[in-house]
Amino acid sequence: MNIHEYQGKQLLREFGVAVSSGEVAFTVDQAVAIAEKLGGKAVVKAQIHAGGRGKAGGVKLAKSLEDVRTYASQILGMTLVTHQTGPEGKVVKRLLIEELTNIQKEYYVGVVVDRSTGSVVMMASEEGGTEIEEVAAHSPEKIIKEVVDPAVGLLSFQAQRLAYAINIPGPLVRKAVKFMMGLYEAFVAKDCSIAEINPLVVTAEGDVLALDAKLNFDPNALFRHPEILELRDLDEEDPKEIEASKFDLSYIALEGNVGCMVNGAGLAMATMDTIKYFGGEPANFLDVGGGATTEKVTAAFKIILSDPNVRGILVNIFGGIMKCDVIANGVIAAAKEVGLNKPLVVRLEGTNVDLGKEILNTSGLNIVAADSLADAAQKIVSLVK
Ligand code: GDP
Ligand code: MN
Repeated sequence: MNIHEYQGKQLLREFGVAVSSGEVAFTVDQAVAIAEKLGGKAVVKAQIHAGGRGKAGGVKLAKSLEDVRTYASQILGMTLVTHQTGPEGKVVKRLLIEELTNIQKEYYVGVVVDRSTGSVVMMASEEGGTEIEEVAAHSPEKIIKEVVDPAVGLLSFQAQRLAYAINIPGPLVRKAVKFMMGLYEAFVAKDCSIAEINPLVVTAEGDVLALDAKLNFDPNALFRHPEILELRDLDEEDPKEIEASKFDLSYIALEGNVGCMVNGAGLAMATMDTIKYFGGEPANFLDVGGGATTEKVTAAFKIILSDPNVRGILVNIFGGIMKCDVIANGVIAAAKEVGLNKPLVVRLEGTNVDLGKEILNTSGLNIVAADSLADAAQKIVSLVK
């Protein structure tokens, strides 16, 4: 789960991480009032769940209250298209109004879970402010890493080593170390999956602070962080994914046109691979789970069909805990409810498979039966062409 920059900064403050002061604004008047408190000058920043706002015109430096009013009216309500939003962009509904910072140099600090070492890794670079992916591609030697032992946490000498390696000015290394220690503490305490500060800046006044903050949380740990769940902004999420989460369905929207309904994450991945192997593009990942009911299957079916890109559906179910007849009934109920007029290929295997097939065959619906995963994928791919 993602949160906004202003929320991330508020959270980091609680862990003693230095961030510039500012407040969220939902209207132009609020933006001006906050800037007034900050002394008349301010940075006006679009709050969306995507980076690259600076380049796209979503970050403006205002020299006067008049500027703040102009920029705030410009940015609020605009559709910001950045390299992370996709071509459709995101509508800006909130602004962060922040004090101006005299930047001397921009750096990068990020904390991630590194699957290759099975540990939390802190990364730092003196190439801040630009996309870290670019740095990783062109000058990977400029990214310095420290692997953290989970039993002892980030040690101050590791933070110090990072600070020196990225050439933080000597007198400011202590502040940089405090910053990194606080960032790591926040990462662990809040079960983050990513905490990225790009840029971390050194100011003309000799401060070390976060100018940007991107925090991402492990959804599996949210049950123990109700305070984080409260920060969720549904405007920033795909409506289909929100609907799916209400039914406890693991659904992720993708760009293709073959809707997929599968049980089990592994089988869902294999199904997507097989569709691609035969030249198709999946429209979604969907795992209906082990003990899905007819209601759940119906909901899943409706969510798939609410995607206008979907030109056909592939149902691939292995009836282990899940029974094939339950799936068959769910598919039929949903197809009737939404008036299905798109090709539907179904592959069932496992518990009650004969009953399931019989239910489908006598439903009067136009369903194409498939005998294997490869067969099913080939059939749906040719039907959506
Ligand atoms: P992003 O483009 O979405 O990653 O947004 P950032 O919060 O990283 O801001 C983009 C850029 O705006 C930063 O890299 C800075 O160069 C610039 N910027 C942001 N705030 C200030 C500020 O207070 N003073 C100055 N001079 N530049 C700023
Ligand atoms: Mn940034």
